[in-house]
Amino acid sequence: MSRFDEIKQMEETYLCRTYGRYPIAVKSGKGSRLWDFDGKEYVDLLAGIAVTSLGHCNEELAEVMDRQSRKLVHVSNLFYQEEQLDLAKRLLATNHCGKAFFCNSGAEANEGAIKLARRYNQRVKENGAFEIISFTGAFHGRTLATVAATGQAKFQDGFAPIPAGFTQVPMGDIGALRAAMTEKTAAVILEMVQGEGGVNPVEPEFLKAAYALCRERGVLFIADEVQAGLCRTGKWWAFQHYGIEPDIVTSAKALANGLPMGAVMATDEVARGFAVGSHATTFGAGALVSAVASKTLEIMERDNLAARAGELGGWAMDRFRKTARKIPGAIDEVRGRGLFIGIVLARPGKDVWEALLDKGFICNLTQERVLRLLPALTVEKADLEAFAQALEGILKK
Ligand SMILES: *Cc1c(COP(=O)(O)O)cnc(C)c1O
Repeated sequence: MSRFDEIKQMEETYLCRTYGRYPIAVKSGKGSRLWDFDGKEYVDLLAGIAVTSLGHCNEELAEVMDRQSRKLVHVSNLFYQEEQLDLAKRLLATNHCGKAFFCNSGAEANEGAIKLARRYNQRVKENGAFEIISFTGAFHGRTLATVAATGQAKFQDGFAPIPAGFTQVPMGDIGALRAAMTEKTAAVILEMVQGEGGVNPVEPEFLKAAYALCRERGVLFIADEVQAGLCRTGKWWAFQHYGIEPDIVTSAKALANGLPMGAVMATDEVARGFAVGSHATTFGAGALVSAVASKTLEIMERDNLAARAGELGGWAMDRFRKTARKIPGAIDEVRGRGLFIGIVLARPGKDVWEALLDKGFICNLTQERVLRLLPALTVEKADLEAFAQALEGILKK
């Protein structure tokens, strides 16, 4: 039996059947490369789903992990911790928010954002508002509240009753949003680029109208930046392309380059919604993960990775559009922002995705026919060019 078959069998024996896995057991990684147990090399253009934005096994982060792991790893949030405060200061310098709450994942960040929005309305504004409005095609996580906000049937199947107080309206439909708002509406939650939903950048006109409507009605605006945030779209935060200032911003994925960390950021005003004892999490921003996240932000800033993602992503999308023109009828559209790219195939693309994997290129297939690329922000142009050529070879057949 090959090592891969052994691993596959162990998984079936020991793990819950929640994941449909790629047919690869990963042994090691470096930068934008992964290796399996047979020594096969892959160009990783998915980066742990927008997590390892500084590449696999980043040397500077390894040094921080080594040093911090011998100094202090975890003491709980019963204590003041310098590392956590250094991180908060650095993170909040990237946007207009005034306060941060740290947690461990994207779902937990969105769950925290929903709780903060409700509590701000109920305890500060004292208006009793609780309703959260989200949009079709959204993905906000897998906790019960966040699958309620996600709204897609496939993520809710078998989990009834789904928590009440969530409404979903068609993305891009300002009339539907206006009609859905009542005096019980606490917040609207939106991704600037829907990831799981198929790499759908929000229409700027719709976004501005939705934001203005929230302001007019006194409804909080939550930006889910779990996937799009942290330099990927060409700015620190994707909402910064549109001149808006969300009341609450959530982050996770790339925040500690692979160690679990999430954050809820809020304006000073809205952060008043939380009081001592109202929300907590044991692991949130322990010393080790905080030190790594701080270094991650420092490197993103120092190496101008937002600008790099914007420029390289623009080049890559032009390059893939060239591929689309070369092979008429194979690609419907190339869309995205920065290094958050969707190549929309004309038909279901499982075979194309498999052929890419066979040639050593890792990307994700979402919504059946969207090849989703979320490479490290440090990815080489040559890797993207090689991917384009491999894709051309496959689509020509
Ligand atoms: C991945 C993702 C989440 C959920 O994050 P987890 O860390 O998996 O809980 C939430 N929102 C968006 C936009 C995401 O891409």
